[in-house]
Amino acid sequence: MKEKEVILCKFGEIVLKGANRSGFESMLTRELRRRAAHFGAFRVECAQSTVYIEPKDDMADIDGLYESVLQVFGIVGVTRAAVAEKNMESIKEVAARYLPPLLAGKRTFRVDAKRSDKNFPLKSPEIAAEIGGVLLGAVRGLRVDLHNPESMVRVEVRDHAAYIHADQQKGAGGMPLRSAGRGLLLLSGGIDSPVAGFMMAKRGLEIEALHFESFPYTSERAKEKVMALADKLCAYCSRIHVHVISLTHIQEALRDQCEEDYFTLLLRIFMMRLAERCAKQYSCGAIITGESLAQVASQTLKAIAVTDSVVNMPVFRPCIGLDKEEIITVSRKIDTYDTSILPYEDCCTVFTPRHPRTQPEIEKVMAQLEKVDADALLEEAWESMYTETRTIFEDYR
Ligand code: ATP
Ligand code: MG
Repeated sequence: MKEKEVILCKFGEIVLKGANRSGFESMLTRELRRRAAHFGAFRVECAQSTVYIEPKDDMADIDGLYESVLQVFGIVGVTRAAVAEKNMESIKEVAARYLPPLLAGKRTFRVDAKRSDKNFPLKSPEIAAEIGGVLLGAVRGLRVDLHNPESMVRVEVRDHAAYIHADQQKGAGGMPLRSAGRGLLLLSGGIDSPVAGFMMAKRGLEIEALHFESFPYTSERAKEKVMALADKLCAYCSRIHVHVISLTHIQEALRDQCEEDYFTLLLRIFMMRLAERCAKQYSCGAIITGESLAQVASQTLKAIAVTDSVVNMPVFRPCIGLDKEEIITVSRKIDTYDTSILPYEDCCTVFTPRHPRTQPEIEKVMAQLEKVDADALLEEAWESMYTETRTIFEDYR
């Protein structure tokens, strides 16, 4: 007999949010519904700090949805559970069928029971003891270990049914997507910026992306690599509009008219100005970059002070205090690393100065900027912008 199963998602930090909590809950539930729609017909309901996801028919792909739910921010724990009626007979029957295969090969276990319906005739420790007894009889060699169990079984008697499960998995954590507003990620083809986008999305920002290209100095394949990175981020961010702006003429003007040592910094000033305009156009309250202090010449304290000074909105740099190894660890976890290391050129590596300024004085940088018609160049670059929308599933709405 095929057990009736649901997916249970436990909230993380949002349970602490007091009066704003229901808003966070509905954002989370809405995101889960959007993802669930791709995998078939599901009922997605929120109650008692948990979202219940229940297949409506046999066609619904619960395995696929389960994997996807592991990448939804705002959830700390995810588990599949068998549903039993709210009486001890049914709970024991379901437990005897459902749990032994999950505990096969395990040596020790513990049962925790929770009863949010206080009218249920047995108290939690009594429920736990009964189910423990069932398992000891059903799985050979299995022992109870209350302190350090290999497997953690839970029985939850809730409003409408009882749920039985083993070994809850860790969820993605963080805050629900979009609950903190929207941020514009400066997305290059490198390792750092996808990680920065992931980190800020985890804090609840909806991610919009801006990529700078420099055709013909950068290739179509370099741009496709950035789109591939956006696709990877969509596993967590669901949908990302990627705006693309051409810096070709700006770079040529800087090369022809400015002192080489200032080239990178000047380029970054143009990038930040365009980013601010793009952020405002698409209602983003912050710019996000993958900068890490002292990683390269343009990321010294003084250089960052220069790039910060040309925009009037928060610039989030979540990688600022991480070293490369730590950033790589995250990029492997979110599966962007293998794409990031593909060897295509980036606009930042076109015309790089031999001796970039690491301790720039802002007056000198601004004097160099005077040598080009910055406003006209910015306007022309802005006009070059086009947008591609990437989504986790083609039918994500
Ligand atoms: P990453 O930092 O992503 O590994 P990178 O090291 O090539 O790429 P840096 O020179 O360190 O890039 O640039 C610092 C930050 O500037 C990047 O993390 C990214 O946010 C932004 N940036 C650099 N190049 C581009 C680009 N072509 N388009 C958009 N943003 C860019
Ligand atoms: Mg970098």
